[in-house]
Order: sequence, then C-alpha cells, then structure tokens
Amino acid sequence: MSIADNLKNVRLRIQKAAKNAGRGETDIHLLAVSKTRSPDEIRALHELGQKAFGENYVQEALDKLPALADCSIEWHFIGPLQSNKSRAVATHFDWVHSVDRLRLAERLSQQRPANLGPLNICIQINIDNEESKSGIALSELESLAQQIAALPQLRLRGIMAIPDPDQEASSLAQSFANLKSAFDQLKSLHPEVDTLSMGMSDDMECAIAEGSTQVRIGTALFGPRPPKP
Ligand SMILES: *Cc1c(COP(=O)(O)O)cnc(C)c1O
Repeated sequence: MSIADNLKNVRLRIQKAAKNAGRGETDIHLLAVSKTRSPDEIRALHELGQKAFGENYVQEALDKLPALADCSIEWHFIGPLQSNKSRAVATHFDWVHSVDRLRLAERLSQQRPANLGPLNICIQINIDNEESKSGIALSELESLAQQIAALPQLRLRGIMAIPDPDQEASSLAQSFANLKSAFDQLKSLHPEVDTLSMGMSDDMECAIAEGSTQVRIGTALFGPRPPKP
C-alpha cells in the first residue's frame, strides 16, 4: 500500500465513522503522527495535502525540521515534555497536546516568541489512571485550565488523552465518553476551547463516535513503526 492509499483509507474511515455518529466529516481533524518517520516520508504526505503533523521527541523533531522548512506544516508536540526542553517546543511548534502541569505551561508562555502568536495548548488527561502515562486526573482539569487560560502567550484549545488500549471495548468507549463530558464542561467555561484530541489508528472509530474532534494517526498512515533503536 502506498502512502496515498493509506491516506485515502484513513479519510474514508473518518468519513464513515462521522456519518455513523451523525457528525460532519469536517468536524474531525486529522493529525498525522510522524515520530520515527523520515523527512521524505513526511514531505510525501504533505504533498498529498496533509497539513498537521505530530511529533513525540524533541531532539528527533529538531533534527528533521530543517529539511522540511519549505513546507507549510502545522507542528504539534504530542509526547511527554521535560521542562528543560520547553524552549525548543515553544519556538518550533504550533501546538502542545501534552501539558500536564502549571510550571511547564508557565515556561512555555514565557519562552514563546512574541512574533509567533500564542502557542495552542491541550491539557493531557490520564483518563484510565495508568502508572505509565502522563496527564492529570479529570478532577484537576478545571483549576489547571483556569490557570493556563490566564497565561499571555498560550491559547487553551482543549484536552488530549490516550486511553488504556488493553481494556474491553465498552470501557474504552466509556473512557472516551468521560473525556467528551469533560470537554463540553470545559467549553462552557472557556469558549475558545474547540479541540478534543483522542483516537489513534486502532480506536479512531470509537473515539469519533464519542465526540473526538481530532484523531492522531501514525501507523494507519505510514505503516508499522520500526522498533526503537
Ligand atoms: C504514537 C502516537 C499516536 C499514533 O499512534 P498509532 O497507533 O500509530 O496511530 C497518537 N498519539 C500519541 C500521543 C502517540 O504517541
């Protein structure tokens, strides 16, 4: 399968899932997750019309970005972020999906170059309370959101989560539904909030059925990832 076929298939899956949920296809944005992918692979997908790409590792992204400087790509940082790497992310990315503490948000706001405009922020929720995952509990969302919304160089856009993939379909759907309720509540307090970032290659249909506005897709676009060296 070529990357063009993969993109077509992913768009079809989004379209079908949206239709089944009685939603418009354009309500769901596609973020292409390009961790471990070469600049050439990213460029090929970009040339097919894909604009938004997500990266997980700061150094890997910094190594690849120069080769793609001529592409009008919207870069999303979606991996765990150490505070000592916040400046690079504030400088080179348009979005951060993995904000999980005030200190990090404050640094990103301070370090965001003023000429770039505000950095778009999603707060990461650890929806299934997994030891191995970053993110805050839903009970902490309202207060962190309020603090982030007050920071001058950030724009609060929504929430991101990675539910535990090893749970039954019904509890996975419940996790997505709980995120959707939290998103709706957050939107009522912060009208600028418009992004519910949930759903990956294996669970995008379920996430869209429950209200996702942005799916983050790697494998279904680029094929299986090579093992990490
Ligand atoms: C890798 C990754 C994805 C994409 O996962 P696939 O299963 O390859 O689609 C999405 N979100 C995050 C945060 C990731 O790290």
